[in-house]
Amino acid sequence: MDVACCDSGGNKMNLTKRKFDCLVIGAGGGGLRAALQLSQADASVGVVSKVFPTRSHTVAAQGGINAALANVLPDNWHWHMYDTIKGSDYLGDQDAIEYMCRAASNTVIELEHSGVPFSRLENGRIYQRAFGGQSQNFGGDQAARTCAAADRTGHAILHTLYQQNIHARTHFFDEYFALDLVKDEEGYILGAVAIEIETGIPLLIEAKTTLIATGGAGQLFYNNTNARINTGDGMAMALRAGIPMEDMEFFQFHPTGIAGKGMLISEGVRGEGGYLVNGEGERFMERYAPHAKDLASRDVVSRSIAIELKEGRGCGPDKDHVLLKVDHLDADIIKKRLPGIRDLSMTFAGVDPINAPIPVCPTAHYTMGGIPTNRHGQVVVPEHQGAEEPVPGLYAAGECACVSVHGANRLGGNSLLDIVVFGRAAGNHIIEYLKENRYHRPIAEESVDYALSRLARWDKKGDGESVDSIKTDLKKTMDKYCGVFRQEDVLKEGVEKVLAIEERLQHARLKDHSKIFNTARIEALELENLMDLAVATVCSALERKESRGAHSRIDYPERDDKNWLKHSLYFKEGRRLEYKPVHIKPLTVDSFPPKPRVY
Ligand SMILES: Cc1cc2nc3c(=O)[nH]c(=O)nc-3n(C[C@H](O)[C@H](O)[C@H](O)COP(=O)(O)OP(=O)(O)OC[C@H]3O[C@@H](n4cnc5c(N)ncnc54)[C@H](O)[C@@H]3O)c2cc1C
Repeated sequence: MDVACCDSGGNKMNLTKRKFDCLVIGAGGGGLRAALQLSQADASVGVVSKVFPTRSHTVAAQGGINAALANVLPDNWHWHMYDTIKGSDYLGDQDAIEYMCRAASNTVIELEHSGVPFSRLENGRIYQRAFGGQSQNFGGDQAARTCAAADRTGHAILHTLYQQNIHARTHFFDEYFALDLVKDEEGYILGAVAIEIETGIPLLIEAKTTLIATGGAGQLFYNNTNARINTGDGMAMALRAGIPMEDMEFFQFHPTGIAGKGMLISEGVRGEGGYLVNGEGERFMERYAPHAKDLASRDVVSRSIAIELKEGRGCGPDKDHVLLKVDHLDADIIKKRLPGIRDLSMTFAGVDPINAPIPVCPTAHYTMGGIPTNRHGQVVVPEHQGAEEPVPGLYAAGECACVSVHGANRLGGNSLLDIVVFGRAAGNHIIEYLKENRYHRPIAEESVDYALSRLARWDKKGDGESVDSIKTDLKKTMDKYCGVFRQEDVLKEGVEKVLAIEERLQHARLKDHSKIFNTARIEALELENLMDLAVATVCSALERKESRGAHSRIDYPERDDKNWLKHSLYFKEGRRLEYKPVHIKPLTVDSFPPKPRVY
């Protein structure tokens, strides 16, 4: 069916239209898990992905997925819950964390039964490795909670979920780029406008429910571990639809990206017995985290490396990295448990870890903040007197969402868990919603104009500044002004710089070639998305005057629970910030009140 709209010249044209019960934007683990739940319940589901589904960033996840299966060492979901809350520096919502940790074991077993080829112990059970921030008995000995398929766990999960979706007859729009949400006057979300990347032809996908599952925004930073597609499109779409972004000041820097390149060397390497040394050959983590050492939480290890480098104890001629040693481990263990890491290290660092240590440094990795949701995946916004209301018809799951189970710092292995647990939960809630909301609501012709005008803006050719150079400037600015350590004057300058780059983007044009390739247009649209999120991130970071988890302020070095035990909400309109309380009360068990966080 077609609907009238305007082209870039303002002429009426027909826009092709498709209808589904649910539109899922994003085919990573989060989107695919939700789509599977829906397709298996006989809902009609359309999944839009800007890359072929199995190229989504989930495919790159290495180390594994957490669940207290107790296959290797004693374990219990309650200990997992405690570690996650402590890891979040007490900013995580304890009801959502309880829900996730309780669901973890069944979720992993469900994945196993769907066909995920987990590595095995001698007794046939799923292999589990030690990861950072994991403990037995509420802060006691190291636990081994991360279920792994060698060092390619995300690959195994994503391919399995994709195949299950094909089997369940989910409809895929591969290589379609979602532009913006479509909304009616009462605030219902009615689907989205997308374009087919190959042809540039727009399409209106009308849906009773829309789930955003577009992943993280690691491309905000120059040095990052993320795929080039991780430009936070869904978060920016939500911002433009008037939805605030939660906790954007919390961006995780992974301690071990390959120095100068950024590719991730999984925490699983330290879980298998690898450790860090500085330029003096010292195992420095013993000083910063005497108990957990190299398996302290990621924010702690990243800061420790940054201090070592700042104080001149780095390695190499520029003393700009430290070394990750694994050459003391048995070569067979490396080949069997870490084959992908060995490959990456040989390709990008020119080092075979069997013989020599890997040069590493902290690298932007994970977006803790995102679209505010409850544990059913419903997008929630503050209404009158602080109460939260769901946005009708809109859901979010995966890295783009902030439930919040990761708070100020995510534990390794908890993101793959988050995407499958909350992807599934969102699917279940949508099934209930569809029972009450059985008909498509009418879409006014004008409601697609905004999305199409964004597209048309990049049709005008010229010789303006190139999108690529603006993008590089933005990312370098974020590295420099909003990195591992932050402080007032630097952040203030960062806000000014980012706003100046935003202004430059208003005047940018695609180069005046005879033909504009859609990929160039897509990159421009992605940069607009990154731009909105960069402003959200620096503004939120400037306002939070304390150090908590990944947000580390030199001028406010302590955590301040009295004033700052709260989530930030950044609104695009007026660049305004509001705050909302942390859910300290879990669902059924006693809460874990904030206490000092030591490893
Ligand atoms: C190198 C690396 C290793 C990691 N290792 C681990 C690990 O071992 N354990 C762990 O728990 N976590 C790990 N993580 C984190 C974890 O992998 C991610 O947080 C998680 O996979 C994100 O899944 P997702 O479904 O939210 O999004 P993604 O897998 O990123 O998928 C996003 C989807 O959205 C689509 N999309 C985006 N924008 C648009 C648009 N505009 N239009 C249409 N489609 C769009 C993309 O095409 C893609 O299909 C790792 C991350 C990285 C980068």
